[in-house]
Amino acid sequence: MRESVIATIGLGANLGDAPATVRAAIAAIAALPQTALVRASRLYSSAPVDSSGPDYVNAVVQVGTGLSAPALLAQLQNIETAAGRERPYRNAPRTLDLDVLLYGDAQISSPPLTVPHPRMWQRAFVLRPLAEIAPALVSPAALTAVQDQMLHALEN
Ligand code: ADP
Ligand code: MG
Repeated sequence: MRESVIATIGLGANLGDAPATVRAAIAAIAALPQTALVRASRLYSSAPVDSSGPDYVNAVVQVGTGLSAPALLAQLQNIETAAGRERPYRNAPRTLDLDVLLYGDAQISSPPLTVPHPRMWQRAFVLRPLAEIAPALVSPAALTAVQDQMLHALEN
């Protein structure tokens, strides 16, 4: 097995029973091959950004994984598909969205995968859950930049 890398994954859902979908996705991520869950944020709720439909449920998790970044993305897409994800159009409402936010300190820019995720620094629904589990990764200035976006934790 290759050396384990800490990967950070963003979860979002806004159709169906979104909290249950996100909790099940965290369990499915924890069960991936060569992968162990390190930390999971609380669940948060946010109004759609660049999307539509009901409010989103979001969370961020960190895993230690021996999977390569493309292999991890492929596994996450399998979990999305199993949750009933369809892609009728860009930014459509979705039962489940799983994004690779960070993969160690790798910079990846290939057609299927861009890491760090290019829009993560503009999104409170990424930065506030991420700051909860990995405060060193999110500067106060980054949090200030998204402080006007509505977001609240669903649990204590
Ligand atoms: P989005 O997450 O931007 O709303 P999708 O989930 O439909 O949109 O993803 C579209 C494509 O984004 C995927 O097919 C995937 O190849 C690509 N992609 C690029 N970088 C990443 C990343 N870091 N994490 C997840 N998907 C990514
Ligand atoms: Mg996605």
